[in-house]
Amino acid sequence: MNILVLNCGSSSLKYQLIDMADESVKAKGLVDRIGLDDALLNHTPEGKEKVVLHAEIPNHTVAIKMVLGALSNQEYGVIKDLSEINAVGHRTVHGGSKFHSAVKIDEDVIHKIKELYILAPLHNPPSIAGIKACIEEMPNVPMVCVFDTAFHQTMPAKAYTYGVPFDMYEKYDVRRFGFHGTSHRYVSERAVALMGRPAEDLKIITCHLGNGSSIAAVNGGKCIDTSMGFTPLEGVLMGTRTGSIDAAIVPFLMEQENWTVQDVNNFLNKKCGFLGISGVSSDLRYVEDAAANGNEQAQLSIDVFYYGILKFIGAYTAAMNGVDAIAFTAGIGENSIDARAEILSQLGYLGVELDKEANQCRGEERCITTANSKVKAFIIPTNEELVIARDTAMVVQG
Ligand code: ADP
Repeated sequence: MNILVLNCGSSSLKYQLIDMADESVKAKGLVDRIGLDDALLNHTPEGKEKVVLHAEIPNHTVAIKMVLGALSNQEYGVIKDLSEINAVGHRTVHGGSKFHSAVKIDEDVIHKIKELYILAPLHNPPSIAGIKACIEEMPNVPMVCVFDTAFHQTMPAKAYTYGVPFDMYEKYDVRRFGFHGTSHRYVSERAVALMGRPAEDLKIITCHLGNGSSIAAVNGGKCIDTSMGFTPLEGVLMGTRTGSIDAAIVPFLMEQENWTVQDVNNFLNKKCGFLGISGVSSDLRYVEDAAANGNEQAQLSIDVFYYGILKFIGAYTAAMNGVDAIAFTAGIGENSIDARAEILSQLGYLGVELDKEANQCRGEERCITTANSKVKAFIIPTNEELVIARDTAMVVQG
């Protein structure tokens, strides 16, 4: 069974074609700058050279056509024709309170996702554009939505309820949803496997640290809390997002700077975080370099980031009445030796004992604590595409 996994952004589309027989990636790629000048498709067939195709790509339908053309191309394709694609899995950011797991796409599902546009105005419309384009091109192929919010739907009300009047929750669904759920799920399941004990017995904290970062508490295989909230703005410091701040700062700045709602939204999501504090970059690598060269603001942004993560780990340990394993994933979690070392070396009180040598590695699944460490820590490269493909296979096979 071949499954096409699609992740549509407003101007980009990432894809992987996965052969479920051995879960191998037959081809992967990215359509970038959809609707803009210089649109292009980067296509990498398994075991072959990358192909770069430039074309006019005004919308997602043309992008999907190009992807399908590349996948079935005689020279650099990996399938003979489109009949070899058995199902499509669509990454969908926001499932609101409506979706607790992956679902087969039909008119009703599309309608419900559209109803969630108000909660995810930047993310859900491109998903629907991708879904519609795929249906146009492959009307008879079953399709499945896998939601970024679904894994967090097991949170209890005390974790997802904000201190606002209850009718705001009832009227507008103002509550914590959490994001990166597919990644937290994959990483927590891998951590369970590496611990070699049943999921029911384990308390795991997963740290997805990338451009956007979130932390989740997974008790007995179920997410019980996560740091992102109603939107992906809440939680720890991120590349360009504030993370949690006093909400009163928002009206204060709007008044001082004479900002509109759009201005302040843009500010909180695009101008803050590492970029805002350091003034250097949203990319931790540049911030780390600047800090190493004596830039104090760059160092401060790193300190704020680590401190925030430490506080979440402490809070989630309290929430679960203990912790057995801490897992690091995504760009920073998988690659920053310093970030892992600085965070774990502050957790001696929990019984974490870092194995400094094992930690000298990037992007490789492994344990990075000593044999005696009471709480284990792991690097676990995330694989959201594989989870989407597995969910898609499961849903279409009933
Ligand atoms: P996204 O949320 O966009 O998927 P990624 O998971 O790719 O982001 O993470 C991007 C972040 O990972 C950037 O801040 C980048 O600096 C960081 N990163 C990547 N490689 C390294 C590295 N070797 N050392 C430190 N940070 C790294």
